[in-house]
Amino acid sequence: MEFLTKVWAKEVAKPQEIEATSTPKPETSKSQSEKASASDEIKESPQDNTTVKKDWGYDLYPERRGETFKPKWSRILFGLEGQENIDRFKCEENVYWCVKNGPLVKLMMGALKSSGCAIDLRRHISCEVCDPSVTGGYDPKLNQIVVCQNMAKNKSMVHGVLTHEMIHMFDYCNNDLDFRNVDHLACTEIRAANLAHCSFLSAMFQGDASPFNVKEAHQNCVKSKALASVLAVRSISKADAIAAVERVFPKCYADLEPIGRRIRRNSTDQQKAYMEGPMYGYDVY
Ligand SMILES: [Zn+2]
Repeated sequence: MEFLTKVWAKEVAKPQEIEATSTPKPETSKSQSEKASASDEIKESPQDNTTVKKDWGYDLYPERRGETFKPKWSRILFGLEGQENIDRFKCEENVYWCVKNGPLVKLMMGALKSSGCAIDLRRHISCEVCDPSVTGGYDPKLNQIVVCQNMAKNKSMVHGVLTHEMIHMFDYCNNDLDFRNVDHLACTEIRAANLAHCSFLSAMFQGDASPFNVKEAHQNCVKSKALASVLAVRSISKADAIAAVERVFPKCYADLEPIGRRIRRNSTDQQKAYMEGPMYGYDVY
């Protein structure tokens, strides 16, 4: 698509998320617009841990591979380190606040619960020190959301990370999602960008909105955000990533579950979506 190429050019492929944990499998040419079509066979593939960490984003989350951040005592003494404990406490406080007060987080919690994938704060959400290029991630192997305590430092950032990653969690739980399948990955990234990121940032922010193409600008925002996320966690060519995003875009962009509407910035939509949760059959609490 032409307008896509324009957007891609502006997009820096910075690492964004961790999405998968298992066997890297070149899954780019297979045509499957049906999300679940090939998932079963792929899920059976054997694990290969040696290439997993690098190719699947684990290097962005050192604590995921057991390397807990350990400051040197001498540096703590001089006030050079030791910040990470304060960060973790603050991060956990922000997570707790969002779960209690953030309308979208509350809606997602309710949707997950109603789908039989209830979130237990301590078990499923983890504040960690991450690579500075990412703010959060979802680890499907442990079914955990990572909030990067060194990057997401205020309530609204944590709210954004939680909403985005909870959409991945929801998809993983409900849609028979296989993160190793690039079409599946593209789909859940489109949904997360659509329902959270692009609505909050607004297309104006990206500079490619005009009064006459707001709709198109929003689609471009979703596409470029989803592309950046896919490229961050997959060692595939940009062309293959674009092809995957384009293949699944119409279907996945239209899929507004479980939020039900795209959220516009500074609107009452957040509250409305939350209030309407029970209409979609979700327990909202
Ligand atoms: Zn994502």
